[in-house]
Amino acid sequence: MTQLSSNEEFDYIVIGAGIGGLVVASRLGEDGTKSILLIEAGPDLKEDPRIKTPGLVTTLFGDEKIDWNFISEPQLHANGRQITQPRGRVVGGSSSLNFSMIMYPSCHDFEAWGELGNKGWNTENMAPYLRKFHKYTAPDHAVAEQLGLHSYLDPSQQGRSGPVPVCFPATYGTFNRAWDETFAKLGWQDTRDPIGGAKLGAFTCPLSVHPENSTRGLATVYPIDRPNISLLTETVVERILFTAGDGSNGRPTATGVQINGERGQRKVILARKEVILSAGSLHSPQLLEISGIGGAKLLKKHGIPVVVNLPGVGENLQDHCISSISYKVAEGQVSGDIMRDPQVAQSVMELYQKTKTGPLAGLPISVAFLPLVDGSKRASTEDRRHIIDTHLTSAPMENSGTFSAQQNPN
Ligand SMILES: Cc1cc2nc3c(=O)[nH]c(=O)nc-3n(C[C@H](O)[C@H](O)[C@H](O)COP(=O)(O)OP(=O)(O)OC[C@H]3O[C@@H](n4cnc5c(N)ncnc54)[C@H](O)[C@@H]3O)c2cc1C
Repeated sequence: MTQLSSNEEFDYIVIGAGIGGLVVASRLGEDGTKSILLIEAGPDLKEDPRIKTPGLVTTLFGDEKIDWNFISEPQLHANGRQITQPRGRVVGGSSSLNFSMIMYPSCHDFEAWGELGNKGWNTENMAPYLRKFHKYTAPDHAVAEQLGLHSYLDPSQQGRSGPVPVCFPATYGTFNRAWDETFAKLGWQDTRDPIGGAKLGAFTCPLSVHPENSTRGLATVYPIDRPNISLLTETVVERILFTAGDGSNGRPTATGVQINGERGQRKVILARKEVILSAGSLHSPQLLEISGIGGAKLLKKHGIPVVVNLPGVGENLQDHCISSISYKVAEGQVSGDIMRDPQVAQSVMELYQKTKTGPLAGLPISVAFLPLVDGSKRASTEDRRHIIDTHLTSAPMENSGTFSAQQNPN
């Protein structure tokens, strides 16, 4: 970890050493001419065996050394339940506690971003970057056969030399095969590779796991150990500082940050060029608001001086939820429930330690992309339009988007 001398300045200050922050800091630092400070609220625990072991992911949720441990307000439409929301609070950010799944976006997502005014954001232009970020390692023959990968995964379409390791660790079982076969029987079979962004039906996504030792492929694979990049851990950025206007376009300019670091010491650090905010989907808007960018009415209510009145900040978060459906396993089949037996759990741990295989080597997740369907397996364009229009125009659900951290060092 970096020790800062007083009055230190950097060309760039990057807030949050998660997936976004590590990539940006690493890329900015490549040519060696710019000085970069990367600030992370949590510690550097990338050698922690629980973080390194893909199959132990759920043991990290709620651990306040690693997880911000958010919980929603009581949800009106979920019988008042409060829903937990894990978020990484370590170097590596949420890549330290996510499911490691490499899920390629749909072409429609890129086109939608383009339509919002982001010039050049389309499927064709993004395609090289989907290969650039990763290095794919093909599984051994048995795993490929078990998952039926030959029917849709095109090895020539995968990344060859990027920093993120992508593979299929030896962790799958009969359910993965049955999943694909079930969807195929229902008419959902598709030979397209998911990396093309137009996949329908069932498939198994690769994982960001190192193939040589089945450890988690964290965002820390992006190198930041360069003399021109400094990492400040266990330091919370409390506020981004702005000048009122930079003279050229009259807009406020971010000039630095106020931090709360070791032993609660407050300090200001200045940026000569830019402050880059990559604190995640919950903290980035929060930090903007605390710093004076947000809806003026809300900021004034909390006594925050308004820098820019931007009412959209911190509103209308959209996220995918996990809604689990459980099935009774057929007679004679073995499911993950067997791990509840301490002796089995012990054996599985030993297997992973000795051979880097078994249930802890990855997460045996298969997925399916399906369009909205009706009884005849298709919903008409009109039906789909109707559903989308209904939800687009319906009022936001009361209490549906509010989260609070159980332990918030801010
Ligand atoms: C449980 C879970 C499972 C997921 N599974 C998958 C998956 O299988 N595949 C997939 O592609 N994606 C998955 N995701 C999503 C993926 O991890 C995120 O999209 C990604 O991490 C977002 O990157 P980010 O840089 O925006 O934020 P993060 O990676 O969360 O990083 C933000 C960083 O900023 C730091 N920070 C926040 N506030 C401050 C502050 N004030 N000062 C200093 N530092 C601060 C945080 O501590 C954190 O380290 C999952 C996410 C979760 C939570």
